Amino acid sequence: MKIGVLALQGAVAEHIRMLGLAGAEGVVIKRTEQLQDIDGIVIPGGESTTIGKLMRTYGFIDALREFSAQKKPIFGTCAGLIVVADRIAGQPEAHLQLMDITVARNAFGRQRESFETELAIDGIDEKVRAVFIRAPLIEEVGPGVQVLSTYNGQIVAAREGHLLVASFHPELTDDCRMHAYFLEMVKESR
Ligand code: GLN
Repeated sequence: MKIGVLALQGAVAEHIRMLGLAGAEGVVIKRTEQLQDIDGIVIPGGESTTIGKLMRTYGFIDALREFSAQKKPIFGTCAGLIVVADRIAGQPEAHLQLMDITVARNAFGRQRESFETELAIDGIDEKVRAVFIRAPLIEEVGPGVQVLSTYNGQIVAAREGHLLVASFHPELTDDCRMHAYFLEMVKESR
């Protein structure tokens, strides 16, 4: 199974490594033509405004909408979650607008810019260690969205069909179960 990692900005190498640990081949994606060769894609953490701008410049907005229309799985982590969302609180326009969620950026405030915790995630047996860095929260979900995890009552992971998102960075630990979960979605989709 070949899984791409969108490599415009952000934590790319870490996701490639985790995909390998989970049993897939991770491919660095820099051009839209490469999307034809992969079965799913990870949009990494970083800075969503920068990633969104580069996506527009390099044609990834239309290309990834087309990728998603083919029901190929997409996994957005942190900034990647923001990029996938239909709505961003306080911003007039979102980026890919694929998933029926509203996100709030930098939602944990200054006091807690980054922290680690253990999270229960629906579909994964034991708790997962989660690293949050200037993380977004999911404020609202549409009826087709399944909430997979909450932290202090706030939504931090969700799934809508072939789309998976997490507020935290599952690539920054040695635990590849979140990536393995995504690979299962890819298998189901083929
Ligand atoms: N705060 C960033 C943003 O709004 C996301 C942070 C991250 O990906 N670690 O884009």
